[in-house]
Amino acid sequence: MAEQQHMYEARIPIHPRSVKGRFRNLKTGILILAYSVYFLLPWIRWERDYGPDQAVLFDIPGRQFFIFDLVVYPQDIFWLAGFLMLAATLLFFVTGLAGRVFCGYFCFQTLWTDLFMFLERKIQGERPARIRLSKQGWNGEKLLKYGLTHASWLLVAFATGLGFVLYWGDAPTIVSQFFVGEAVGAAYITAGILTATTYVAAGLAREQVCTFICPYARFQSVMFDQDTLIVSYDQDRGEGTAGRAKPVKGLQTREERQAAGVGDCIDCGYCVQVCPTGIDIRDGLQYQCIHCALCVDACDTIMDKQGWPRGLIRYTSERELEGGKTQWFRLKTVGYGAVVVVIVGALLTSILNRPPVDANVNQVRQPLYVQMSDGQIQNSYEIRLNNTSQEVLDFELDLAGLEGGTLDLGDVSDIRLEPGDRLTILARVRYDVPDDAEGSRIPFEFVISDRQGRIEPYSVSTQFSHAR
Ligand code: SF4
Ligand code: SF4
Repeated sequence: MAEQQHMYEARIPIHPRSVKGRFRNLKTGILILAYSVYFLLPWIRWERDYGPDQAVLFDIPGRQFFIFDLVVYPQDIFWLAGFLMLAATLLFFVTGLAGRVFCGYFCFQTLWTDLFMFLERKIQGERPARIRLSKQGWNGEKLLKYGLTHASWLLVAFATGLGFVLYWGDAPTIVSQFFVGEAVGAAYITAGILTATTYVAAGLAREQVCTFICPYARFQSVMFDQDTLIVSYDQDRGEGTAGRAKPVKGLQTREERQAAGVGDCIDCGYCVQVCPTGIDIRDGLQYQCIHCALCVDACDTIMDKQGWPRGLIRYTSERELEGGKTQWFRLKTVGYGAVVVVIVGALLTSILNRPPVDANVNQVRQPLYVQMSDGQIQNSYEIRLNNTSQEVLDFELDLAGLEGGTLDLGDVSDIRLEPGDRLTILARVRYDVPDDAEGSRIPFEFVISDRQGRIEPYSVSTQFSHAR
């Protein structure tokens, strides 16, 4: 009978060993910083004349995002587009220079998996103890250790989900309401979904997310070139002419090994044991490698013990491995760098120069104009005003470019707007169109200012239609 073939290969559990070294320290530093920012940010209070006292708050009902002194409104959505473009270009730029450093040090999946592995190690022990535990049958010890591990993961996953929810409302209020069942339904649903996804992604799926789900691993090679820094095993040095070998008798010193043609790799397997994706970097560049450089730390530790130079596994480029020198300034990286600078400049200019009022004028088209009994022509306009400053403003509207034209706002006498408030006004403009007027449209401007003179007058261009 033909053997049944499975489309899906069961995951082989990976039990990474811990390692000490400069890249591990760097990863731990980034991890602490990232967690501090994520969990503490909603608790930072911020003095504002108007609005909430939370430094970072995404206020969906109020349609305002507070980020320290910056208040973002829905019409600023193009900032988000600019920010996404910046993130993508920055990723291309960094990847072209230094490979998958984002994956290895900054990606949420890496950061959370790292913490989950830390907890697992604290509860179940180092790699040999974890392998032994996974192979042994179910008993009290296994139940207790696995139970504690999963409970700690769920706790972190829940803290992650709740932490995210705190960005969308007043953090202390949400926490006090959440645990007595008084928070809004969306808070429970969001926290629940994020708890489940964090637990599954960082606790159960781990490297499978990077290998099978994340699209970045698949197209990263397109962004690599001969000068991109990648974590590499120095094949020539490690294998020599006769391959790698354990430091058995007669092959213990470097001199003995070199005389026998044996390379510097003592085949200890430490680099493989520490790898969170379970690969052997000595097999060459693989798409599963997230460039975390933990294998570099592992091999450096071994080289230090042997008293041999570090760097058998190191960050290097293909060109350097072939004896050349890495070229940092390349058309591609300079181009990406220039685009990054342009986007940052454009975003900063736009943010720093945003007018304190956002105004939008739409001419009413039905009817386009009305002939009045006194011979004047009347056009109507829908004016949308949004106070984007952090002050209460009493707005005034005026006309520029329509000599003798009059503005009628109907019943609206005071246009007082609190910070973030919006108002739509119907404005009628009457004008005695001169006989020599050219064309059927006269360009003019609505000038928006405030009574207290706090803001610079702001003009919005539009046109006056007539039939002469
Ligand atoms: S091979 Fe090295 S750099 Fe790549 S994922 Fe494994 S430990 Fe990290
Ligand atoms: S840690 Fe270094 S010496 Fe040990 S197997 Fe890996 S490459 Fe070889």
